[in-house]
Amino acid sequence: MILVLSPDTRPESSEYKQLLTHLANLPGISTRVHTEVGSEQTLTEVYLIGNTKPLPIEDMQSLPCVERVVRISEEYRVLGRHKNDNRATYFDYNGVRFGQDTLNIFAGLCAVDTLEHVELMMQALRDNGQICTRMGAYKPRTSPYSFQGHGKVCLPYVFELAGKYGIKVIAMEITHESHLEEICEALYVTGNPTGIMLQIGTRNTQNFELLKIVGRQQEFPVLIKRGFGITLDESLNAAEYLASEGNRKVVFGLRGMKTNMGDPHRNFVDFAHVPVVKRLTRMPVCIDPSHSVGLRATSPDGILDIMHATAQGIIAGANMVLVDFHPVPGKALVDGPQALLIKELPLFLEDVRIARQAYEQRAALAEHYRDA
Ligand code: PEP
Ligand code: MN
Repeated sequence: MILVLSPDTRPESSEYKQLLTHLANLPGISTRVHTEVGSEQTLTEVYLIGNTKPLPIEDMQSLPCVERVVRISEEYRVLGRHKNDNRATYFDYNGVRFGQDTLNIFAGLCAVDTLEHVELMMQALRDNGQICTRMGAYKPRTSPYSFQGHGKVCLPYVFELAGKYGIKVIAMEITHESHLEEICEALYVTGNPTGIMLQIGTRNTQNFELLKIVGRQQEFPVLIKRGFGITLDESLNAAEYLASEGNRKVVFGLRGMKTNMGDPHRNFVDFAHVPVVKRLTRMPVCIDPSHSVGLRATSPDGILDIMHATAQGIIAGANMVLVDFHPVPGKALVDGPQALLIKELPLFLEDVRIARQAYEQRAALAEHYRDA
């Protein structure tokens, strides 16, 4: 059970103390308080843990400071969407809103290779009105002999260039606690020119210790990719690890499933799960058409498979797109074959706009028939 308190409830107020004393006396129930400091107001939620079934909603509703009571199901307690649960489905980070109603494009390099390529990418993003990107510095690779990413060496110039070109959020995968420290250090020495969305890659979806570390910090939001060989439920529980440790700024990413059933695509596109994740949880949903499709094939209509997959995710209501671009894909050190060309960025963005408009029309149509 969650007690949602009135906005701006002060912890030092006598009503709040009265509430906590009352809860402390409930037999077999422990409490966990979560405070979310937003730009407009501070929201406090009190989680009641234990057997809350005998507690009548009306009684809990009448306690001091309590605005609303949500009876939660066992699954995805924090991030889940429960019955009569109208808690927020968005968060703000570095001036950018991420929600189940918004759409943000993260076009960029799969892996940082040279400063020149980073700059060409960021310049193109700025020229096309983009404020988010993807830039991999730490690359988990299948072979130990493959390029592993430049790591902390590249962070200062990546962050400085992001500041120069007005990039507000960079999605960047980390695979170890030390990477988080290196990112914090590089942001500090460069004067915080940009923001970071930490990415948990598909190979680490169930690295629970990493999830706990990333969940304990609340500075950076997190994009957690679905595990490529586990069930959706298992991946959603992995996301819940982040929230249970305190970080609710979580985006859930679909990136295709590992199976030869999807051949010739690199992974089997799973974007039909966009609305499913939005129904089961309050997380914004990201799609990664590049790692799903994995190649630059074009169908007879002249549209790249990657753009078809992108449109399929967006027309189903996706809220974020992570997509690989490269100025010279032939020279990319990672995933060149799936990179879109910089000159294709305006086309890609226009294609996204068309798909998003179609989604909005579909949602409006559904609403019209629901109200009729
Ligand atoms: C990536 O986005 O660079 C990546 C490695 O993705 P995934 O974890 O989905 O394979
Ligand atoms: Mn990649």
